[in-house]
Amino acid sequence: MKRFNCTACGSRVCFENTVCLHCGHTLGFDAGTLAMVAVEPVAPDGGLFHRIGGNGKDAAADVRYCENAMHGACNWLVPDAASTTLCEACSHNRTIPNLSETGRLDAWREVEHAKKRLTYSLLRFGLPLDGGASQAPPLMFDVVAQALTGHANGVITLDVLEADSVERERRRQMFAEPYRSLLGHLRHEIGHYYWMLLVNREGVIEAFRALFGDEQQDYQTALSAYYATGAPPNWADNYVSAYAAAHPWEDWAETWAHYLHMVDAVETAEAEGMEPRAAGLRFGAAWPFKKYDVYRQESFDSLMARWVPLSLALNNLSRSLGHGDFYPFVISGATRDKLAFVHRLIRAGAV
Ligand SMILES: [Zn+2]
Ligand SMILES: [Zn+2]
Ligand SMILES: [Zn+2]
Repeated sequence: MKRFNCTACGSRVCFENTVCLHCGHTLGFDAGTLAMVAVEPVAPDGGLFHRIGGNGKDAAADVRYCENAMHGACNWLVPDAASTTLCEACSHNRTIPNLSETGRLDAWREVEHAKKRLTYSLLRFGLPLDGGASQAPPLMFDVVAQALTGHANGVITLDVLEADSVERERRRQMFAEPYRSLLGHLRHEIGHYYWMLLVNREGVIEAFRALFGDEQQDYQTALSAYYATGAPPNWADNYVSAYAAAHPWEDWAETWAHYLHMVDAVETAEAEGMEPRAAGLRFGAAWPFKKYDVYRQESFDSLMARWVPLSLALNNLSRSLGHGDFYPFVISGATRDKLAFVHRLIRAGAV
């Protein structure tokens, strides 16, 4: 995630903020420029806002808040000229939880916050959310209670109870996972969506099978076998997680999710002035090399050269505060090749 500043006073603000704590201006996220902007009402009690400062070709265009702002579930802005009342992220919601049920509103807000971070990454990559040039359907989300989290033909279902930290921890232990988060779920499931767009076509699917295996093997049988006997003891040699061993589709989605974790973490580290290198972390001005855009870089090796020392440093930092590993995974040679494949396809699939 980039570092954001209030366009009215220059103070640092967070992606989720709705007010600048320094100058008091109302804030929103502008998906057009992928930046936070300060806004002020065009008229008292009206829903229309002017942007303050900012840049880009639409800087003078008035905006509204996404309809979900009234639930405290969204701080994204919608151009006044847009035909929809929902922002670029919320317009992909097909089902939201029943907000009259106890606890649902808080849980849904957390899901929406995670979903905004996911959408930020997809927009930064330039990946299509509407199926793009492929025959795939547009992306849709069903966020509902007690459903099976998963992806089917463009629709991502997420169990809103995953926003409950106690329940999520119970499931994390039940499935013996080192890591489980809302954002992790979303990054995994969106991987299945982009498999349809980027992988499932001639000229690519053969390379996929060479790395991940034949996805035509029966999915339900493979999953049942995984839940009955678990991953093979040496799974870490070939897979980024135990679950990735269940089926080539799951291997792809797990690898994809890790790629998104890495890119987001490296961008955040850079935005915070931490330039990870094999020699350790260097801060801000001390680092002599020019900045690069991790979402647009051509070289996978350059990403890994930053990610490995960063993740080691963060694990150490986390342990020094008495927590477990920040990134409890080891990237084997085979996993590295799969991550490089994801990298190449994202670069090729960007619009
Ligand atoms: Zn401000
Ligand atoms: Zn929204
Ligand atoms: Zn999956």
